Amino acid sequence: MPRIAYVNGRYLPHAKAAVHIEDRGYQFADGVYEVVPVHKGILVDEELHLDRLERSLRELRIAMPMGREALKLISREVMRRNHLNNGFLYMQMTRGVAPRDHKFPAAAKPAVVMTVRQMKPASKEKLEAGVPVITLPDIRWARRDIKSVSLLPNCLAKQQAHEAGAVEAWMVDGDGYVTEGTSTNAWIVTADNVLVTRSATHDILNGITRIALLDRVAAEGVTFEERPFTVEEALNAKEAFITSSTNYVMPVTEIDGRAIGNGHPGLLTMKLRDAYVAHIEGGEGTEAASPAKSAA
Ligand code: PMP
Repeated sequence: MPRIAYVNGRYLPHAKAAVHIEDRGYQFADGVYEVVPVHKGILVDEELHLDRLERSLRELRIAMPMGREALKLISREVMRRNHLNNGFLYMQMTRGVAPRDHKFPAAAKPAVVMTVRQMKPASKEKLEAGVPVITLPDIRWARRDIKSVSLLPNCLAKQQAHEAGAVEAWMVDGDGYVTEGTSTNAWIVTADNVLVTRSATHDILNGITRIALLDRVAAEGVTFEERPFTVEEALNAKEAFITSSTNYVMPVTEIDGRAIGNGHPGLLTMKLRDAYVAHIEGGEGTEAASPAKSAA
């Protein structure tokens, strides 16, 4: 079955889908994106993702290219054309095509691309193994709360993690505090069972998985602190994990080559993963993706 992508009003075979060379996303990384998990045909926490998308666009003064209802219709159509049941929806919006000039163009039309990809949740074996992470200096800009397509520092750090045999890099600010992973939020559980993650300021991307999990944390009565933590504190933690739309809740079993806790996924981590999976299974905060009528 051929993959289909949506590009600026058209549904195209994935291999033929392309944007203009003067798209400002290509020239300047002048755009934003969203990744929405799709579970059993449902877009998980869709409204929260659209809220964040609108916020990212607003912060960069890019006009919302179309209303929410139109976006929802197109996303369902892309899912339908690709027979997507489990995986994720990728949306990208840029300031549009204009002759190369740093200043905003007077009249560019924002560009919209949507694709989907099949993906299965992590296997039991993968979950039981957990993932190793390394720590690296955070060399990104000061507005990491905007989900910008400018991901070069994230790519460099992820590649360095990969070359070190790790799965993620936790980036560390100038004061020695962990900000987040290259594509995930970072969490620890201290020796006295306090769950800690950095607060959602301009320093990190406020993950939708993070937001959904914090609701579950409150419901489960877990002791929780929203504050920065150092690498040292993470190394001495009882448990650690990462969250994202593609990883859900994934245990971290090693940081910089040192085992966390007993080197196995922590109890609270797995309990929170179960709570998150129950959330997406229950479709709570999610909306059924009723296939839209076929549009050209
Ligand atoms: N931080 C960064 C830098 C990310 O790229 C992501 C994934 N988009 C996250 C955190 C996690 O966000 P979410 O839970 O919305 O996938």
